[in-house]
Amino acid sequence: AAKADGRSTYRIFQQEMEAETQARHAIEMGLRTALANDEFELLYQPLIDLGTGRVARCEALLRWRHPTRGYVSPLEFIHVAEETGLILPIGDWVLNEACREARNWPVEVGVAVNLSPVQFNNPSLSLQVVNALQRSGLPANRLELEVTESVTLDGNEHTLTTIDQLQSLGIHLSLDDFGTGYSSLSYLKKYPFDTLKIDRSFVNELNAAADSVAIIRAVVGMGKSLGMTIVVEGVETEEQLAILKAEGCDLGQGYLFSRPISAGAIRTVMADGSGMIRSAA
Ligand code: C2E
Ligand code: MG
Ligand code: MG
Ligand code: MG
Repeated sequence: AAKADGRSTYRIFQQEMEAETQARHAIEMGLRTALANDEFELLYQPLIDLGTGRVARCEALLRWRHPTRGYVSPLEFIHVAEETGLILPIGDWVLNEACREARNWPVEVGVAVNLSPVQFNNPSLSLQVVNALQRSGLPANRLELEVTESVTLDGNEHTLTTIDQLQSLGIHLSLDDFGTGYSSLSYLKKYPFDTLKIDRSFVNELNAAADSVAIIRAVVGMGKSLGMTIVVEGVETEEQLAILKAEGCDLGQGYLFSRPISAGAIRTVMADGSGMIRSAA
């Protein structure tokens, strides 16, 4: 019986593998079609200045308008795009689209664009950034690129050169999802990030209990002593907001203020004059 069980377990395993390979292949083909048929869209989520309540910048977040499945989350397709190299043309589209959109915002705040490590290792990255800025007419200091710790981890010569090149263009660099990888103080010192985005998981667990606040306090202190702007992601409750404000975080992003919304909707929010999002959200 053990043998038969083993065989059927293997067969199920094999079927699952085949199903997964097929699913990946379907996503890859779908992504090619999406590029050709203009099925990508950027949503924008505001980052709020916790001192003034105003929109300080907006993060561009990619969506795939799938013809039959509707909006598909980047979490479902970015890894396939990275494995197939399709992230390069997709990422270039994102960069151009975000710059073009931000150029026409009624308030001159910055736009943040997420970069995959694959894009980061592409030698023509700074050229693509220059092109996107020139085509759109967006001033370099209104563009911010978000990278995760994995980029700094395989920190070779190339990584430092790329960061130098990008910084000399006058754009801003942001370390995304801080705390989920293996960054250490020495990385933060070595790489000149302007902004530190504390990962949502730390905010999730945040309550008045002393030890959850202690971590936020330590990270804020460390980031600020290195001259960085501190952003907290995933702010969902008033209680979290109160703690984060008290701990001196600069900017907040999360469903409490606004979910990611369409280009048209974010323009309306900014155009209402005050720049106050919380009444609009
Ligand atoms: P991220 O860069 O850390 O973006 C923040 C994610 O947190 C977004 O998910 C956003 O919708 C979500 N979020 C914001 N506030 C809250 C909140 O209060 N609660 C909860 N539960 N979630 C919140 P999204 O849009 O699904 O994007 C997921 C990830 O996909 C992004 O994480 C980023 O790593 C990646 N991504 C998105 N757009 C792009 C892109 O254009 N290029 C690349 N390479 N990656 C992208
Ligand atoms: Mg991000
Ligand atoms: Mg993030
Ligand atoms: Mg995240």
